[in-house]
Amino acid sequence: MPAELISGTELRKAILEELRGEVARIKEKYGKAPGLVTILVGENPASVSYVTLKVKTAESLGFHEIQDNRPESISEEELLALIDSYNKDPDIHGILVQLPLPKHINETRVLYAIDPDKDVDGFHPLTLGRLLIGGRAVRFLPCTPAGIQEMLVRSGTNLDGAEVVVVGRSNIVGKPISVMLGQKGPGANATVTLVHTHTKNLADHCRRADVLIVAAGVPGLVKTEWIKPGATVIDVGVNRIGINPETGKAILSGDVDFAGAREIAGKITPVPGGVGPMTIAMLMKNTVRSAWLHLGGGASEA
Ligand code: NAP
Repeated sequence: MPAELISGTELRKAILEELRGEVARIKEKYGKAPGLVTILVGENPASVSYVTLKVKTAESLGFHEIQDNRPESISEEELLALIDSYNKDPDIHGILVQLPLPKHINETRVLYAIDPDKDVDGFHPLTLGRLLIGGRAVRFLPCTPAGIQEMLVRSGTNLDGAEVVVVGRSNIVGKPISVMLGQKGPGANATVTLVHTHTKNLADHCRRADVLIVAAGVPGLVKTEWIKPGATVIDVGVNRIGINPETGKAILSGDVDFAGAREIAGKITPVPGGVGPMTIAMLMKNTVRSAWLHLGGGASEA
């Protein structure tokens, strides 16, 4: 029997519906909406389309949304001053700077300038330090790993004591999801192995996985015979493997040999329509959480 599909598109709908209810409760209690600013520098087409989707989603939830577009020529100091103004703005609870930034701007410096209490993308070192400590210390989860964990939990995948193998150790996906699933607590308690290009016998590690999470950016890296029968497979990879001559749009593929894997796995995410749609939903969830914390006076608590 082919594996059950875990649809990020469907889960996103459900999560956004839940958030709509929370936004209404926040408005009723505090007379204010969650505030999100999306800062876009320049006109990189991929960034423009990502930001447009984020803005539309925020608006559909009834957020106070500011789309702040700046020219490519903005200086680093001007951008830092802009972030500082949003750090101080009580109506803004989340600040998102769309990456990549132009070469003359130090990305790290910019991301570190965001108030950690408004770091809804989850990239600030304090946010990641809190994530490492776990439990009540956690403030915001980085969006893509948060989406992966939601998919696992909402699809009923057992993580308690499960062997999880994560392929790829990036700061935005592989490292944080490894930490999150290895924490003590519900939706975690897994035994996690993190593998990368220096790992010996990659296939053997993958074959042991009850839950296999692949974020390498290499199309077709994980072969059908690397998958344990009945495993849950989360394919984070988004690779452009060609152009559809009819639509002119990119043809996307994940890091897993999907057709073969679907015959072996118990559950699997598609690409597109898997992890991708969850990332924006998690950005919205973080902004709603931030609004509760700020408006309720809990944002500055340790
Ligand atoms: P990244 O920074 O591109 O790094 C890739 C990681 O995979 C590295 O740790 C690398 O190992 C490892 N790797 C690459 N080739 C490998 C191989 N042959 N065997 C074992 N490990 C290998 O990672 P990323 O930014 O997390 O992106 C990974 C993929 O996820 C990309 O396709 C990206 O587009 C996608 N992505 C999707 C979303 C989303 O859907 N929302 C979000 C983020 C990323 P080393 O460290 O040893 O080099």
